[in-house]
Amino acid sequence: MRRPWVAGNWKMNGSQAQAQTLLGELSELRELSEIDVCLVPPAPYWLQINDAVKGSSLRVLAQTVSEYDSGAYTGELSSAMLKDCGVSGALVGHSERRQFYAENDYVVAAKFKALRQAGLSPVLCVGETLAEREAGETLSVVSRQLLAVLESQGPEALANAVLAYEPVWAIGTGLTASPIQAQAVHASLRAVVAAFDADCAAALRIVYGGSVKASNAQGLFAMPDIDGALVGGASLQATEFLAICRAAQQAL
Ligand code: PEP
Repeated sequence: MRRPWVAGNWKMNGSQAQAQTLLGELSELRELSEIDVCLVPPAPYWLQINDAVKGSSLRVLAQTVSEYDSGAYTGELSSAMLKDCGVSGALVGHSERRQFYAENDYVVAAKFKALRQAGLSPVLCVGETLAEREAGETLSVVSRQLLAVLESQGPEALANAVLAYEPVWAIGTGLTASPIQAQAVHASLRAVVAAFDADCAAALRIVYGGSVKASNAQGLFAMPDIDGALVGGASLQATEFLAICRAAQQAL
């Protein structure tokens, strides 16, 4: 049985005041003890949020991380810095990073490795564009993105990681992959890992992201290979995010 996992990616949104309000509204999350819930705020709010969630099972993740350890990389934040601030891990390969910051599979794999070396948990995001889906390339694209890590770091690298399937056409668009569409991709991703190591594949949490909201979460979580959600926009609304987390807990 895989423990459900839900994370709220605030993207480049928020302020100290908004973080404080949202944390107050999300206090019920402390009682959802059977799922892992992570908040993924912008870096300036890590310490504030970590302080507020101390003593609970809530975790803070970063939205990205540098592939380098230290040095002349202006603007970047290393895995060691994340760890120093009490951050548990980071997203790598989010489609917005791939699209707007030209992060390719090689860079994403290097970031994944940097996190592991610091003892942090990577959340590897994979997903196809609409053009790739329409060209029938979904499985080859997501497999390639996953294999960039698997082939260079081995299946054991996935031990503390989460894999997030996020179709690019569903992120922030209001369009969601249907539970059946998402399940098909999740099962294929698990099969890619199983070809390397069946136990690792069975234990790996594969979560869905792309316009998840309270109204569609339950249907997605009912699928056998969907182990939770990476939530963007809806994570900024406490009632929506709470309902998604409750749906994950009920799907146990
Ligand atoms: C995301 O940012 O990873 C995401 C899935 O966003 P949204 O839920 O807004 O589509």
